[in-house]
Amino acid sequence: MERHAYDVVVIGAGGAGLRAAIAAHDAGARTAIVCKSLLGKAHTVMAEGGIAAAMGNRWPEDNWEVHFRDTMRGGKMLNNWRMAQLHAQEAPERVQELEDWGALFDRTDDGLISQRDFGGHKYARLAHVGDRTGLEMIRTLQQRAVALGIDVFMECTVTDVFKDGDAVSGAFAYWRESGRFIVFEAPSVILATGGIGKSFKVTSNSWEYTGDGHALAMRAGASLINMEFVQFHPTGMVWPPSVKGLLVTESVRGDGGILKNSQGERFMFDYIPEFFKAETADTVEEADAWYDDKKNNRRPPELLPRDEVARAINSEIKAGRGTPHGGIYLDIASRRTPEFIRKRLPSMYHQFKELADVDITAEPMEIGPTCHYVMGGVEVDADTQESAVTGLYAVGECSGGMHGSNRLGGNSLGDLLVFGKRAGESATSYASSLGGTRPQVDEADVKAAQASALAPFEVEGGENPYTIQSDLQQSMNDLVGIIRTRAELEESLREIEAFKERARTMVVEGHRQYNPGWHLALDLRNMLIVSECIAKAALAREESRGGHTRDDFPGPSDEWGTKNLVVNLDAAGTGVDLHEKPLPEMPDELKGYFA
Ligand code: FAD
Repeated sequence: MERHAYDVVVIGAGGAGLRAAIAAHDAGARTAIVCKSLLGKAHTVMAEGGIAAAMGNRWPEDNWEVHFRDTMRGGKMLNNWRMAQLHAQEAPERVQELEDWGALFDRTDDGLISQRDFGGHKYARLAHVGDRTGLEMIRTLQQRAVALGIDVFMECTVTDVFKDGDAVSGAFAYWRESGRFIVFEAPSVILATGGIGKSFKVTSNSWEYTGDGHALAMRAGASLINMEFVQFHPTGMVWPPSVKGLLVTESVRGDGGILKNSQGERFMFDYIPEFFKAETADTVEEADAWYDDKKNNRRPPELLPRDEVARAINSEIKAGRGTPHGGIYLDIASRRTPEFIRKRLPSMYHQFKELADVDITAEPMEIGPTCHYVMGGVEVDADTQESAVTGLYAVGECSGGMHGSNRLGGNSLGDLLVFGKRAGESATSYASSLGGTRPQVDEADVKAAQASALAPFEVEGGENPYTIQSDLQQSMNDLVGIIRTRAELEESLREIEAFKERARTMVVEGHRQYNPGWHLALDLRNMLIVSECIAKAALAREESRGGHTRDDFPGPSDEWGTKNLVVNLDAAGTGVDLHEKPLPEMPDELKGYFA
């Protein structure tokens, strides 16, 4: 068995993991990055729209206070206020730093970093590179991490975090290609494993997003918060079936695209909630005028936060006003020139041309909601990103709190940079504070981790993991999707129990060398526990807010607006315990922004 010793091990090489590793290295830590796919192939690379940061390049009026307010309002005030504040204050510096490291952003006419409009942001605020911002971000961070000489273990999946008493001592992993095991000894482990979307059938997420970091943290004794809040992006492709769920960036709407039902109606005007009425245009004339004169007009309703738009689309489809393939039309062709569309949205143009044979400069796209992002994640300290377990940190999409009940577009990429840097620095500072006395990896734990990883090979006559995964995805889509009810959530929990039972005897064919069935069997354990957290928290929260809509409790409730739901692994280690926790109190000077 391979063994390696580091000060800081970062699990995940998306924007959060790379930024954390660079910070740890810069602070003097011997640092490793472990990632289950190839370096550079992370969720972050798929990010299209941009990085939200109040740089004020298009709107000098923009500043961190407005960004903070937008973020909190977008999250329906359930965000950890301190994280939202740090994010808004530090994102501009982190974007500038990316540029100093070689990222090439689109420019304004004055040569500044260009910023585009996105839902829920008062001002054009997303620094971008066409609709390929994530690619540029990953390219820049990856080049820097490699140039700094940070060790990278790629195509290597972590399955366990080790502890010595209450503190982290390392992690256990396997090479995907050879199936051989690795032990990492390290006092600081940073989880940066991304999202959970693969628990749902229709999703913009790719195969790696099986909630590994969420589950690793729980098994190590940390808590998750906000798990009931799953973001269904309003615009995923609906046709052809092979690409159902693939994201259609919000930039299409930011750049002038509008939503229409099968009767040709621009229906979003019928769905403006009270909370956003004062700042949303209520006539077509005003909405269209906003694109040229943002000072004197209010924003189009197509640019309401994602949860509002996704619910509206869902209602139109349910009311029988959907497209032939069960979506809604997103039309930019009749509103912008082909040159404009090809320049601003090159990836969308190619995506539709190649995958659906649709020319978006000439005809509308068919779109519908798709599971996109999880607001819930590991509960961390806002300033350091440390979880309740000493030496265990979480950052990026696998951490929770920053986005409350609904994330604004562009706020994830900012989150990765701001909190990635903070996590890397705190993890290093803790590791150095230990001097020569470090937590030790217990050999009995290594043997147990190995036995657990090999368990699916020991079973005979059980089920194949693919069938269980497919049933789980269908069940989560049907019962824990965009609109939820008590009866459906109770049914989903019964189904998850049955999936867990089936997973206990699932069987893997073949041997350890590149064996995707085995890999899935290990991932499935994480998907099941994360799905249970989502369903349990969704059943408990009897209100509708952000990314959680209950048909039986259609509005937000004042009482639920004051608390988070926190989940832990139960004493037996096989189920989920849940409790309520009051929101941290916001200081009076920040409360003033919401007067
Ligand atoms: P990821 O980038 O998801 O990286 C996770 C890493 O963890 C990967 O390297 C993976 O291999 C590794 N990993 C996972 N499990 C394990 C394990 N067990 N062992 C080892 N490694 C593991 N947000 C914005 O702010 N702006 C946008 O414009 C935007 N557009 C988006 C477009 C699309 C299509 C999608 C899907 C998302 C978009 N988002 C956007 C959201 C944003 O991209 C993600 O939330 C963000 O990139 C997540 O970054 P991360 O570093 O937390 O994780």
